[in-house]
Amino acid sequence: MHTGTLILWDVDATLLTTGGIGGQVMRSAMAQVFGEMGARERTFFSGKTDRQIIHEAFPNITPEALAMQLDRFRAVYVTEFERRRADLEAHARPLAGAVDVLRHLHGRVVQAPLTGNIAPIARLKLELVGLLPFVDASIGGYGDDHHDRAQLLPVAVERATRHYQRLFRTQDVIIVGDTPNDIRCGRFSGARTVAVATGPYSLEELQAHEPDALLPDLADLPAVLHALFGTAPLP
Ligand SMILES: [Mg+2]
Repeated sequence: MHTGTLILWDVDATLLTTGGIGGQVMRSAMAQVFGEMGARERTFFSGKTDRQIIHEAFPNITPEALAMQLDRFRAVYVTEFERRRADLEAHARPLAGAVDVLRHLHGRVVQAPLTGNIAPIARLKLELVGLLPFVDASIGGYGDDHHDRAQLLPVAVERATRHYQRLFRTQDVIIVGDTPNDIRCGRFSGARTVAVATGPYSLEELQAHEPDALLPDLADLPAVLHALFGTAPLP
């Protein structure tokens, strides 16, 4: 089997922002299905899977009960997203450099989302800001696959292998994200980890979690390629 390079992109605050509207939509969907949640700290949502967020916001809901309500949550969330589409279109944008980086790598490596968002919402967000054509959202790892983000990477690699009939060795898998949870997720599977300080965590805060490479943002394409591939020949 041929080998390939797989880049797994976090979505929120790594590739795009919804200007806070995405968080409002998520809260509204949770309120409709699970109940109101109180005020939370700045990083409460960051780098977590949607299932983990629900577990932490509503600790009385058992994992079994949550699993049973997941389909309804998914449907309510997508409906709510569509209801707020005008707001989302007004506020969502790709982050600096994201379009250029993804376009540059498109066709040279396999790119897919690895995100805490449930799959349909990840796809809608990427489509909203024009990034969907550059990633393969038919594979990837999502917040409805597992509550533990670290478990999403093996899921994503397995999907990529099956879909492309190619072997994605651990050393050829690169994860890019804006939170310590993204770094942990990559390290858990031995993938290369690249952190970007475009979310709620500063360069210093991310550095403390020892990613393989660290960037202020995706704006400088040569710097991003160096962070992704190190000294390996650039694709
Ligand atoms: Mg993120």
